[in-house]
Amino acid sequence: MSLDNILKIAEGTTDEVAELTSGLVKFNSAHPDGFTDECVAYIKAYCDKHGIENEVHANDPKKPNIVARVKGTGDKRVLWVGHIDVVPEGKPENWTYPPYDGVIADDCVYGRGSSDMKGSCAAAMVSARILNELESIPNTVEFWFASDEEIGGGEGARWLAKSGRFKADVCVIGDGNGGGPTAPSIDLGCKGGAGVKLIARGQTAHGSTPYLGKNAITRLINGIPWVEKIDDFELDWPDDLKSAVEGSIEYYKGTTPTGADDILKSMEHNFYTPSVTCNIIHGGVKINVVPDYAEAEFDIRLTPGSHPTKVVDRIKELVAKSGIEGLEVVATREYSAKDYAGYYESPNSSFADQFKAVINAITDKPVNMKILTGGTDGISTSKIAGIPSLGYGTSLTGQAHQPDERVTIENLVLGVKIFTAFPLIYK
Ligand SMILES: [Zn+2]
Repeated sequence: MSLDNILKIAEGTTDEVAELTSGLVKFNSAHPDGFTDECVAYIKAYCDKHGIENEVHANDPKKPNIVARVKGTGDKRVLWVGHIDVVPEGKPENWTYPPYDGVIADDCVYGRGSSDMKGSCAAAMVSARILNELESIPNTVEFWFASDEEIGGGEGARWLAKSGRFKADVCVIGDGNGGGPTAPSIDLGCKGGAGVKLIARGQTAHGSTPYLGKNAITRLINGIPWVEKIDDFELDWPDDLKSAVEGSIEYYKGTTPTGADDILKSMEHNFYTPSVTCNIIHGGVKINVVPDYAEAEFDIRLTPGSHPTKVVDRIKELVAKSGIEGLEVVATREYSAKDYAGYYESPNSSFADQFKAVINAITDKPVNMKILTGGTDGISTSKIAGIPSLGYGTSLTGQAHQPDERVTIENLVLGVKIFTAFPLIYK
C-alpha cells in the first residue's frame, strides 16, 4: 500500500483516536498506586473487537502490560513501546476540566496522561488496527503498552526487558515530544545518571559545648560546593553525537521562554558537562547534640555515552582537594569503567535514516535529532533488551506532568500516520 493511501486512512481516524485517548484518560492509573489493570482491559477489549492478536503480561496483577501483535510476512520485527501509567494530578483546583474526565474540547483531549502518554498509546492502538486490516505487511509489529514507566519501569518495560519478552530488530519509543507537524524531532536517546552521596563524619558532643565535638553538618555544608564543581568537568561522549547535541540545544532553545538567557546557558553547558543538583540532605538527631553524621545526595546527569566512573573519580579528587576532614564520596550505583551513561542510537544508523525519512515524508519538514534530559523506557529496550531504540511521541510542548495537561488531536493523527507507516517501510 502506498504512503498516500496510508495517510488517507489515518486522516479518517480523527474521532477514533480522540475517543480512545479520552477513554484511557478516564482510568486513573496515577502513582503512587500506578494500577494499569483497567487500561489494559480497555486496550484488550479494543484488540478483541478488531481481531488483533494480543497478550497480557503481568508480574504484578494490578500493574499488567499488554501487547498487540500484527504478524508480517518477513522475519524482521518492529517494536513500539509506550506507557499507560501517569503521574499524580496535583491540586484539583488547578484544572479547568477534571483531570480524569477526558474532556474533548478546542480540538484537544484534556486530562492527566493525555500528552504523557495515553494519547500516543491511543494512536498506537489505531495503528495496530489499520495494520491488522491490511492484506499483508512486511514486518511483524508489536505494540507494547507498559506500566510503571514513571517510576523506572519495575513492573513494566524493565521487567519485560529483563524477562526476555522484548525481542525485535528495532524499537520505537512512543513517549516524549515529537514536535507535532511544525517542528518534527526524533529522540536519539537520553541522559543517564552518575548519582553520588557525600558522607560527612565528625565527633558528637553536647550542644552546649560545640568546641568539644566536630560537627558533621558543618563539614557536609562546606563539602557540597566541592561536589558541585563537577559542573565544569568536560564529558567524554562520542563524536558521532555532536550533531544530536547541537540539535538538542536548538530544540530546547525553541521551547524555553525568551529572555531566559541564564537558563539557556546552563542547558547548553550541561550537554558538555554534568548537570549536578543536591536534592536530599540528612543529618542531626537532636537539637542539643552535635551531629557526628550527615549525608547529602546528588542527582548528576550525563550526556549519553559519557563514562560515569570518570565523573565519580573526579568528584572524589575534588572532595579530597577541599582538605575538609571526615568526608567520603560514595557512588549510589556501581559502575564499571566500561559502563556509559544513558542510551543513544547513532544518528547515522540505517534505522535513524529510515525513521527520519518517513517522518520527513509525512510532515514535509526537516527532522531534528535530540537527546532527552530525563529517562524513558528506552533505557530498558536499548540497554537491557539490546534493541536499537528511537523515540517519537505525540506530546505537546510543556504539557507532561502539568495541570490542564492536554494534547491536540492533530498531533494524535500524526502519531497514527507515523506509527502505521514506519513498520511498513522499515527494511
Ligand atoms: Zn512518559
